[in-house]
Amino acid sequence: MALRVGVVGGGQLARMMIAPAVELGLDLRVLAEEERMAASLAATEVGDYRDADTVLAFAKEVDVVTFDHEHVPQDVLAVLVDAGIAVHPGPDALAVAQDKLVMRARLAELGMPQPDWAAVTGPDELQAFLDAHGGRAVVKTPRGGYDGKGVRVVGAATEADDWFAALAEDARGGALLVEELVDFSRELAQQVARRPSGEIAVYPVVETIQRDGVCAEVLAPAPKASERLLEVAARIGVEIAQGLGVTGMLAVELFETTDERLLVNELAMRPHNSGHWTQDGAVTSQFEQHLRAVLDLPLGDSSPSAPWSVMVNVLGGPEHDSLDDRFAAAMAECPDAKIHTYGKAPRPGRKVGHVNVAGDDLDDVVYRARAAASFFLD
Ligand code: ADP
Repeated sequence: MALRVGVVGGGQLARMMIAPAVELGLDLRVLAEEERMAASLAATEVGDYRDADTVLAFAKEVDVVTFDHEHVPQDVLAVLVDAGIAVHPGPDALAVAQDKLVMRARLAELGMPQPDWAAVTGPDELQAFLDAHGGRAVVKTPRGGYDGKGVRVVGAATEADDWFAALAEDARGGALLVEELVDFSRELAQQVARRPSGEIAVYPVVETIQRDGVCAEVLAPAPKASERLLEVAARIGVEIAQGLGVTGMLAVELFETTDERLLVNELAMRPHNSGHWTQDGAVTSQFEQHLRAVLDLPLGDSSPSAPWSVMVNVLGGPEHDSLDDRFAAAMAECPDAKIHTYGKAPRPGRKVGHVNVAGDDLDDVVYRARAAASFFLD
């Protein structure tokens, strides 16, 4: 019988596991939030991932449960583990990706390089941090942020008043995360895959370019990366995967500082936007690798299959409600571009697809990837 993988969450990351699952002969099933989601091409059940009975019933029909996102509550994960179900990544690792304060504390225990940070419960504590860090800092809500939502640069403690007020109303109480405003020259991402039995595969560190807090482009490998940078980034990825017991794909978002240090920004324990280039530029894509890892199968070769790969995200805009008309034009003009779409309605700012181009010359690859993606811009 085919090995069965259950993915909680029906977004594009689950969708992009479908092709390699078909190729590997796996039976991929999805627990989606609603009908007609990106991953509904696979066998899909609709249900609430916050409801333990729903997730347990889904999980009992598969050999391993994995995720399209990190939001499944810990009490639901505990029910699965108690029922003897294989869950990868496991609850302890996921807890670190679910809460940025937990993440900062665990990374500190592991001795990982990261920005100065503190947990602040009110404006006085925030002001004290600001005073100690040149008057500007980055405040983050520990849970539920994505694509820059829940991240704010502040120059005065009053600028976080609304978030402190929200904390006061939250029965769980808690704190905000404040970090030094890092003077970075660029942002990088290091991906590794780790199986439950310990094998690790390391991808080359990549450069990620963000616009308005959203990943816009990825250059793989990171241009002008010295051997030392590649090594240090890889070591950080491996030590975090091992230290936290991550299973499946791990992405470590990094800042490269102007004085050439690497600092960990955040973690994702699933395939990640910074690794979409691997679909067309690596021997084993991150989606295939994630499936192999969570099933505890031998990992694939994570080497690049071309000297350079560039990924450009396609975001929905206000002008059109379908990508269909853009497709043929992009295909005709850019036959070497690999166009990936997520089957999502293109609302403004929403990630609806991406374009990958691989080749020998970085400038040429960047040009061709942007040219292909430009057909989808308004
Ligand atoms: P999200 O969880 O929404 O992706 P991040 O914590 O990754 O949020 O922050 C989003 C972006 O904000 C980062 O990609 C980076 O550009 C900027 N940023 C975050 N933390 C800092 C920091 N400490 N110093 C400088 N810039 C930061």
